[in-house]
Amino acid sequence: MTIARPGKIVGVGRNYVEHAAELGGAVPKQPLLFLKPPSAVIGDGDAIVLPPESAQVEHEGEIGVIIGRRLRRASPAQARAAIAGITCVNDVTARDLQQRDEQWTRAKGFDTFCPVGPRVVPLDPARLEELEVRCRVNGAVRQHGRARDMVFAIPALVAYISQIMTLEPGDLVATGTPAGVGPLKPGDVVEVEIAEVGVLRNPVVAAS
Ligand code: ZN
Repeated sequence: MTIARPGKIVGVGRNYVEHAAELGGAVPKQPLLFLKPPSAVIGDGDAIVLPPESAQVEHEGEIGVIIGRRLRRASPAQARAAIAGITCVNDVTARDLQQRDEQWTRAKGFDTFCPVGPRVVPLDPARLEELEVRCRVNGAVRQHGRARDMVFAIPALVAYISQIMTLEPGDLVATGTPAGVGPLKPGDVVEVEIAEVGVLRNPVVAAS
């Protein structure tokens, strides 16, 4: 499956206990949601551009879920059955702006801040909990997360989101990042890997 630009991208904050701790935040009692603009999406091989407004842009390797059919107030079982495929996502975040602003639109929303790919792979819905994601910078492993360690499991997350907003085919849910986030600098190459999907690889450049 090739990747079309999603109609919307729903992100989830602090969905791994160790990552919540490294940011100094509590584990939320309900999923902590935010939106990333579809204009931030880039593909495998495209450059992440560091904007001049931030001095601390960080990688967040994540398991991405592509919605296959319309979901409105779905149950977790309905949500699980409506997942069309899995992909790698890098929820690139300007950490300094995230901490400075009252909310995260600017920190998460710059152009090129949502690498997605390299492909969308259909997955047996019963195997969602087996997924693992790794993030490397210049070949060194920085993050390793397992879906079974999420605070809110993928079907529950998707079901929860659908209580608020109708999910449409092609929408992307970035399911949260494990511990190990860290800064990116010009010349870095950042990779997000899910074994079933492959490697999403993006170079990092300064704004010209
Ligand atoms: Zn994230």
